[in-house]
Amino acid sequence: MKTPVYLDNQSTTAVDPVVLAEMLPFFGEAFGNAASHSHGFGWEAREAVERARERVAAAIGARPEEIVFTSGATESDNTALAGLVGGARERGDHVVTAATEHRAVLDPLARLEREGVRVTRLGVDAQGLVDPADVERAITSRTVLVTLMAANNEVGTIHPLEDVGRIARRRGVPFHSDAAQALGKVPLDVEASCLDAASLSAHKLHGPKGVGALYLRRDPAVALEPLMLGGGHEGGRRPGTPNVPGIVGFGKAVEIACAGGDDEPRRLRALRDRLLGALQARIDGVRLNGHATRRLPNNLNLSFDGIDGEALLAALHDVVALSAGSACMSATREPSYVLGAMGLSEERVRGAVRFGLGRFNTADEVDFVAGEVARAVRRLRDLAPPGRARVDRSPGCG
Ligand SMILES: *Cc1c(COP(=O)(O)O)cnc(C)c1O
Repeated sequence: MKTPVYLDNQSTTAVDPVVLAEMLPFFGEAFGNAASHSHGFGWEAREAVERARERVAAAIGARPEEIVFTSGATESDNTALAGLVGGARERGDHVVTAATEHRAVLDPLARLEREGVRVTRLGVDAQGLVDPADVERAITSRTVLVTLMAANNEVGTIHPLEDVGRIARRRGVPFHSDAAQALGKVPLDVEASCLDAASLSAHKLHGPKGVGALYLRRDPAVALEPLMLGGGHEGGRRPGTPNVPGIVGFGKAVEIACAGGDDEPRRLRALRDRLLGALQARIDGVRLNGHATRRLPNNLNLSFDGIDGEALLAALHDVVALSAGSACMSATREPSYVLGAMGLSEERVRGAVRFGLGRFNTADEVDFVAGEVARAVRRLRDLAPPGRARVDRSPGCG
C-alpha cells in the first residue's frame, strides 16, 4: 500500500489513466482548434468536442446543445449567477439560495448584492438540509433565480432538488444548481429536477482540472448575459478557444462514471460505512456531521470528542491525506460556515475532519486509515485528557 493514502476526493481526484490516454492525442498530433472550420485539424478537434458534449449531456438528461464548456464549476457558477440575474433585470432583483453553498456561489452573490440585488440565504437543519417550504416562502414576485447545490462538498448532504425544482417551476422562477459534487455520485436529471442551469466540474470525478460545464436549458431558453465577450464559441455563451484535451477528458470521465450505473457509488458507500464502523469500533465519541442517509456515497465528515481537527490532520499527514471539515484553510483559517449554519457546537465544528473516498481507494486502505486515525485520536486524548485545556486554539481559527 502506498502512503499517504489519498482520502481528499471531495477536494479533487486523480485523473483516471483511461481518461488521460483519451486526452493525450489532443496534446500531440490532434492539436487542432475546434473553432477552425476550414481544415481537417479543426474538424477532428471539433468532432472530439462534440462527442464529449453528447456524453456530458447524456449523463444529466440534457441535449448536447444545452451544454456549454467552461474552465470548471467556479466559472459555471459565476456565469450562471451573474448571467441569469443580469439577463432578468427588468423582471426582478431577488435571488434565493442557502447558507451552505460553495464559495463559488456565495461570493458572486455577495458581489451582486453590492450591486443592489437582494439575496435570501436560507438556513439549514442540523443535517444540512434546506426545507423546500422555506424556498417556497422566500420566493416573491421579484425573485429571478433560485440556486441550491445538489450535494454539499463538506458534509455531503444531498438536497431535495426535485422538490425545490418543482416549486421554482410552479412559481416561474429559473432554478440553478451547483452539481459539482453530485455528478457521477448521485442520479442527476435536469428534467426530473426542473433545472434551468447546472454547474459541473471534471476534476471531481477523475477527470482533468480546469474544465467543466454549464448546463443551460434551451426550451424554454433561459436568458443569459455571458460573463466574457470575445467570440462566438460555445454558441456565444462562453467565448475563448475551447480546451480540447480537457473537454475530451471530461467527456471520458463522465462516460466512465456513468457506465457502471450504481456499481461504483455502491462500492464507495460500502467502503465509507466500513470506515465509519471501524472507527466506531475502536474509539468512543465519534460524531457524524451531515445527514445519515441523504449524503454523498463517498463522504464522511466526523468530529471526535475532545479533538481539534487541525491537530488530528497534523498528526496524520504522513499516512493519510485528509481535509479539515472545518475548511479551516491556511489561507483564511476560518471555522466552517457550513457546520456553523447547521448549528453545531464550536468544539464540534473545530473538530471536524472530512474523509472523501474515490475510485482508487481500497478496503485495505480504509482499514489502515481507521487504525491510524484511532491511534492518533487516542494519543491526542492522552496528551490532553478531558477537563484540561485540550483544544489547540490556532490563531484566527475560532
Ligand atoms: C469543487 C467545487 C467547485 C469548484 O469547482 P472547480 O471546477 O474547481 O472550479 C464548486 N462547487 C462545488 C460544490 C465544488 O465541490
